[in-house]
Amino acid sequence: MSNEKATSLFDDAISRLDDAAAHAKIEAEALLRLRRPKAFMEVSIPVRMDDGTLRVFTGYRSRHDDSRGPAKGGIRFHPNVSPEEVKALAFWMTCKCACVGIPYGGGKGGVTVNPKELSRLELERLSRGYIRQVADFIGPDTDVPAPDVYTNATVMGWMMDEYSKIHRQRTPAVITGKPIALGGSLGRDDATGRGAYYCIKELEKLRDWKPSEMRVAVQGFGNAGQHVARLLHADGYKIVAVSDSRGGIYSAEGFDIPSLIKMKRDSRRLEAVYCHETICETVDAQKITNEELLELDVDLLLPAALENQITTDNVANIKAPVIVELANGPTTSDADEVLAKRGTLVVPDILANAGGVTVSYFEWVQNKAGYYWTVEEIHRKLRPIMVSAFHAIYEVMENKKIDMRTAAYVVALERIGEAIAAQGTAEFFVKT
Ligand code: GLU
Repeated sequence: MSNEKATSLFDDAISRLDDAAAHAKIEAEALLRLRRPKAFMEVSIPVRMDDGTLRVFTGYRSRHDDSRGPAKGGIRFHPNVSPEEVKALAFWMTCKCACVGIPYGGGKGGVTVNPKELSRLELERLSRGYIRQVADFIGPDTDVPAPDVYTNATVMGWMMDEYSKIHRQRTPAVITGKPIALGGSLGRDDATGRGAYYCIKELEKLRDWKPSEMRVAVQGFGNAGQHVARLLHADGYKIVAVSDSRGGIYSAEGFDIPSLIKMKRDSRRLEAVYCHETICETVDAQKITNEELLELDVDLLLPAALENQITTDNVANIKAPVIVELANGPTTSDADEVLAKRGTLVVPDILANAGGVTVSYFEWVQNKAGYYWTVEEIHRKLRPIMVSAFHAIYEVMENKKIDMRTAAYVVALERIGEAIAAQGTAEFFVKT
């Protein structure tokens, strides 16, 4: 039994508003608007399976807020997708886009499904079916989806194609994270991991870290986890533990990350290997669980899997002095309080994983302009956005003597509040 207060993921997410609002310049009425999604849609998606039977899946899309621009955020295919989860994820997207200053609101979508059980054709029918049901809810200037957990460029390509067919107009800007051949952006694939890496490099300078002395544990070896591990490993960081949904591996000497990535891509398995060209050899490692990985004595912990991983159940055993959140919502608000009191530095999700949506923004700009940038240009534009957001938030944290997550929300809320107030309609009354 968890000791966590019995709140839904959405309520827990929204509870951060109150902590931050106490330190931020934002009207109470603006805050009130952020407590609920602006719009929420639930759809049924009938899919003809390969064996001829019909299955009906449930899908959702939440538009949390669009005061600063079109709603933006991924679509998740996962067995645990629920309305509350989608609403929480959309709320985080609103705050994330404001936090790094890109002109979007927040949205999120999902389908309750285990995509690993579907054939490729079934997955394509489901992806296209989802778009048929939400085609009037999304759009390049209203709500722009992207990949999230267990969706990828291929799925985004099918979705963009379906939307374009429905509207009888090629519309690449309706969705980001597409294959390059369909208007995707260079540098979108590793953008989430790279954004977090840029934050870590700033911490490295601030805290005088020597990469070779830094022991890192990465929970989740999907898109974000693989890329951040690869970039840190290339700089000499010791990646001593990694895990996927089936469990993890630990080695005090650290792993050769390119070998692990190769193995995971070729066989979908996470194994302790060292590869030279096509020859791979198993190396010594200890098998650990995901729970054990979080509690390792490391210098840097990178949760890059799902929400609710660090809770009041395990927070007392978390030893890493620095946590950089690549997943959305890996730490519950109760656990967060404990970490803040203990002085653990948590670089929060709405900053640390914002590299993905930032390059999505670049993709959307390129689609609208019909003019495409080099990967060097993408990196050159991403880094200053991450670095300046990191320092702006770090400064608020130090000046106001609050934790870094609250500081990130302060920065985000002030920007969102300003946009809501500037709309200045009768629906919103600003005291003068
Ligand atoms: N799903 C990613 C996130 O949670 C990316 C969203 C996007 O690119 O719109 O940030």
